Amino acid sequence: MEVSRHWRLRQQRYSLVGEECPHCQVKIFPPRDVCPDCGQEARTAYAFSGRGEVYSFITVHTPPAGYEEAAPYTVALVRLAEGPMVTAQLTDLGDQPVEIGMPVEMVTRRLRSDGERGMLVYGYKFRPLLAA
Ligand SMILES: [Zn+2]
Repeated sequence: MEVSRHWRLRQQRYSLVGEECPHCQVKIFPPRDVCPDCGQEARTAYAFSGRGEVYSFITVHTPPAGYEEAAPYTVALVRLAEGPMVTAQLTDLGDQPVEIGMPVEMVTRRLRSDGERGMLVYGYKFRPLLAA
């Protein structure tokens, strides 16, 4: 893997870094270097607030290999406050039912453990936004 791409993936893992189009100010996530709105080059890094709301969700009862210990879990399509949609697992739900429009915020969590190499894989998840 190319060094700059690896660095970018690492950055994405701990904060929600996308891009902002310098031409029309559309916020882009995941970063793709081309604005989906106006089609021009967009390489300006933009750090998202990590806040958004649940747009839709599904609960997974039969997870893919490597995610068994987490089942059942809920995966949501989150509409970020800045506009883009992100798919991510929800966490820290407790007894709280998931609802469309529920305010959520990003947290960095362990996604799964790779038993063979003892590696932990981290990524972002979203949890209900704590009342201020
Ligand atoms: Zn644009």
